[in-house]
Amino acid sequence: MVNSYELLREEYSHQKAVLQAADRIVLYGNSIIACILKTAVRDLGFTSECSVFDNGAFLEDTASLDRSERRTAVIACSARIRTRESMRRDAEVYFSGAEVFDFYALYFQWIAEVVRRDCDLSVLADTLRLCREERAIPNIDSINTLFCTLNCKECSNGIQYRTDRRRIDAASQMRHLKKLTDILPIAQCNFQGGEVFTDADFAAFVEAHAHDPRLAFLTVATNGTILPPDRVFSAMKNCGCMVRISDYGSLSVKKDALIERCAEFGIPCFTFPMAETWRKFGPYEKRGRTREELTAIRDQCCFGTHDLMFLDDRLYCCLRTLYGSAVGDTGEDVAANTLDLDAEVTEEKLLAFIRGDALWRMCDHCDHPMAAIRPAEQMGPQRGRT
Ligand code: SF4
Repeated sequence: MVNSYELLREEYSHQKAVLQAADRIVLYGNSIIACILKTAVRDLGFTSECSVFDNGAFLEDTASLDRSERRTAVIACSARIRTRESMRRDAEVYFSGAEVFDFYALYFQWIAEVVRRDCDLSVLADTLRLCREERAIPNIDSINTLFCTLNCKECSNGIQYRTDRRRIDAASQMRHLKKLTDILPIAQCNFQGGEVFTDADFAAFVEAHAHDPRLAFLTVATNGTILPPDRVFSAMKNCGCMVRISDYGSLSVKKDALIERCAEFGIPCFTFPMAETWRKFGPYEKRGRTREELTAIRDQCCFGTHDLMFLDDRLYCCLRTLYGSAVGDTGEDVAANTLDLDAEVTEEKLLAFIRGDALWRMCDHCDHPMAAIRPAEQMGPQRGRT
């Protein structure tokens, strides 16, 4: 039996020597992982120039792709094995002679020694090993509140149609989450609303999740309209969270203040570029496509199986299913894509759900292709279904 804890520690001690000797550290891939690693590298005391590299170029204007003999260490920042392998091959071309490794040992060291996340670190090490092997649930969005500061016409979660606005109790959320983590660990747990910071108890919600070592990465998605109190920043810092700000231009009135406060607390913070464009799902009604057409749409759609939405005692496959439940659809398509966490959950059921075996059914409720639309357009005084 592999001792994941010892393995990650040994890997880190080798990587530490490499990073200390490096003239520059390259974070390969413009991802949330690179954003977290940038903070981790600095917090762990590595002082060499550290830059993000993606699509053949550095993101930072100050870094350049020279072919000099600089000692370079490359950290492949992707959760996908195949992407990391391709990064490794590319790095041999762009940074010939560089040492290339993935981010797991560094991340673990940061969580254990700097963040000091309050959870069983041996179990967390096992979680990271399974994530590295892609034997984990890739992502869930854990919804903490149905309140929002905005009233977006095209909210993909259907928040605008919720009549039961409320915050979600952390104890209940954790009880249901355990049904999942007892079977498989979760690579990324993203907190989402509504607007997460409307919840006065958000710190407790985050801390409850961080105690579970079967969750590897914690991220917080905010619309940048609220600056939460310091206790929320402290909780996010102590849990190793990363903050993802959706930039809705002038609507995100607290964006700059949030970025500044995250910097003061040493919290990785990323302005999420996807928020610059939204996709319009279209009217919530069936289009009558064939199963073959729908399967192809499911396989092409960027939302697809990457968005498992977790609310109350239910897990929804794709945000369109959550939307369906928000507008009161109790039909078979929604039922086939909803996992009842109060009922028995088997590994087989969960794996089928993660693969999105029945998701094609929901795809008939969406436009394809989806039109690009202006983000966060606000609803007028008249509310109705799209
Ligand atoms: S239901 Fe299908 S088409 Fe609609 S967002 Fe989900 S994966 Fe995409």
